[in-house]
Amino acid sequence: MVFKLTRTVYHAWSKLTPRVLLADGMRRRSFDAGRKLSSNCCHLDCSSAKRIVDKYDTILLDCDGVIWGTDHVSRMDKVNEALYKLRQHGKQLLFVTNNSLHSTNTFFDKFVQYGFDINHDEIFCINSAAAFYLKSVLGVKKSVYVIGSEAMGTELQNLKIDHFGIGPEPDSTSRKIDDLLDMHFRDDVEAVLVGFDEYLCYNKLYKASSYLQDPDCHFIVTSDVEMGTKIGLNRYRPSVGAVVGAVSAAAHPRKYTVVGKPSSFLYKFIKLKFPELNLNKILTIGDSLKSDIKFAKNIGSDSALVLSGASDMQTLLNTPDGDKPNYYFQNLALFAEVL
Ligand SMILES: [Mg+2]
Repeated sequence: MVFKLTRTVYHAWSKLTPRVLLADGMRRRSFDAGRKLSSNCCHLDCSSAKRIVDKYDTILLDCDGVIWGTDHVSRMDKVNEALYKLRQHGKQLLFVTNNSLHSTNTFFDKFVQYGFDINHDEIFCINSAAAFYLKSVLGVKKSVYVIGSEAMGTELQNLKIDHFGIGPEPDSTSRKIDDLLDMHFRDDVEAVLVGFDEYLCYNKLYKASSYLQDPDCHFIVTSDVEMGTKIGLNRYRPSVGAVVGAVSAAAHPRKYTVVGKPSSFLYKFIKLKFPELNLNKILTIGDSLKSDIKFAKNIGSDSALVLSGASDMQTLLNTPDGDKPNYYFQNLALFAEVL
């Protein structure tokens, strides 16, 4: 539970860290101190950040676009120092991610690689939450058809949930009805779980929608708000929302249940490990208005948007006041400067 990043480690890491790297190519922009977007959305700056953060005991931190770039690789300037100082000021830091491509162990390894010495219990990975939801909330005992990642399989395996479907589709593609009817289907499927899957194909849509013909087969998805990211000139990478949209359309009119942000289930999942959490003392920080800030509003915590990932200033300006966060600021480096 103790953040053991030493100054020596931090300085060694800092020397290796390139200049601030924002995944969408944005460069740092300066904002007027105390700039207020609406009656309930204030800019955090050097003069206000410490006073504001002192109001909270716990900070729920999104990862992609906050701790590192939205590409899950690019490093953010001064994040190590910011986290170190937040911990030094007694803040409990919990890391909550909707990224379904990685397991809790993978995230842990990444934090360690970045110089953060943290506890597994402080990482809340969507794949782990989805496995828990299937096992403990829905009581799934038989099998789960998965359109998702290897990491999703890892978390299901950790809870001893039988599953199949991950990876390349084994059956040959065909549009002939006889071929489709000849494909093998299991009769013990209690749920269809959908996350990001780069192997999504027609056969997988066929199988998922077929299993979901059974009204007792649960339809669970990790997230449906992350639609994609621009990765280059005229290049847009569809994300989990696009996969969920395709499966949902194929399985129409079945409705799915979202386990990840902005669903409040994720907070209940966190509370199981930290029952002492007090919503009045929680600040949720993220880079997505639809995911992180909406999540904060759903659970009833205050929220802050960083402009270092999925959302830019124009997006925030275009957002209705009721959907705006309590605070916004450029990136976590602010806390390295003011604490
Ligand atoms: Mg994010």
